[in-house]
Amino acid sequence: MGNQRVYNFSAGPSMLPLEVLTRAGSEITNYQGSGMSVMEMSHRSKVFDKIFQDTKERFIRLFHVPDNYKVLFLQGGASGQFSMVPLNLIGKTGKADYAVTGNFSNIAYKEAKKYGQINLAASSEDQNHTYIPTQDQLKLDPEASYFHYCANNTIYGTEWQYVPDTGDVPLVCDMSSDFMSRVVDVSKYGIIYGGAQKNLAPAGLTIAIVREDLAGHELPYTPLIMNYKTMIDKDSMYNTPPCWCIYMLGLVMEWLEERGGVEGMEKIKHAKAQLLYDVLDDSKLFTCPAQKGSRSDMNVTFRTGNADLDAKFVSEATAAGFVNLKGHRNVGGMRASIYNAMPTEGVEKLADFIRAFDQVNG
Ligand code: PMP
Repeated sequence: MGNQRVYNFSAGPSMLPLEVLTRAGSEITNYQGSGMSVMEMSHRSKVFDKIFQDTKERFIRLFHVPDNYKVLFLQGGASGQFSMVPLNLIGKTGKADYAVTGNFSNIAYKEAKKYGQINLAASSEDQNHTYIPTQDQLKLDPEASYFHYCANNTIYGTEWQYVPDTGDVPLVCDMSSDFMSRVVDVSKYGIIYGGAQKNLAPAGLTIAIVREDLAGHELPYTPLIMNYKTMIDKDSMYNTPPCWCIYMLGLVMEWLEERGGVEGMEKIKHAKAQLLYDVLDDSKLFTCPAQKGSRSDMNVTFRTGNADLDAKFVSEATAAGFVNLKGHRNVGGMRASIYNAMPTEGVEKLADFIRAFDQVNG
């Protein structure tokens, strides 16, 4: 393939906008006359402080984060938040509600059980996580310290199409795989978090948006590094933050701003996904396991039902420049992850490829 860039449908780490990569490349040895790379800078330097503050401000502006929330740039991945959330929040009543709608919400649920009494508020396991439970199906405990769910299930290709109503119980949401793809009313949430490596930046940065009053009630043995209060008080600089990733997030935020922000992404993401779902629904060969009404706009899962034919599809797609379409090992089949940085053109071309494959093999 040489110098040719491919259409990369990886679930994460994923494509970054070419404009962002080009800009980062041009600044890689000498950031804006500083004589050094951002990778070589002290996180306490004036130059880096400006990058940090500008990035944070842009993120707050684009995601419409209200004043009573703090944006934290952390490490440890979304998986780190599976522990950090209960450590900091469960102390209120010792109980929490979890909705399990896929692999990662299940890991979060199991992790939380170490710290308190966890109520399984909903589970889609009965139908192999092919759907999102409705509001009526949620078994809510009014005494829960918080309700945790995962907005988009990266592996199963389902996405919550509504914000659960939990009354006074704070909502905690893992938005790793649909962060900034749609407009979110942050004020409905207690905490929103996600790994950056799908929609926002390279791997290594975890973003948490924390309603301020929820911090400072951590369990006594909470590690300092996992205490929201420590990180809020130190503006994410209790220790060395993931400087390079924060810089890259800043470039992605500029890119996003030039494209109408989160509103701009929301306008096109559903149409992008629909291009694929329409072709798949019309095909003879392919089915989509995710049920209509629960389908994800970020991770489109599909299959032929024949493992050899799936493998043939993946291998021919790879040869044609559409890479990383193999489904997660837990579920098999195929998955096209079409985050913000995947251009519509890439999705259109994949739709054409699927149609042609169906005609030849169907
Ligand atoms: N939540 C979701 C929805 C994910 O897709 C992933 C990773 N693919 C994780 C959590 C785990 O994230 P990390 O690897 O950043 O710990």
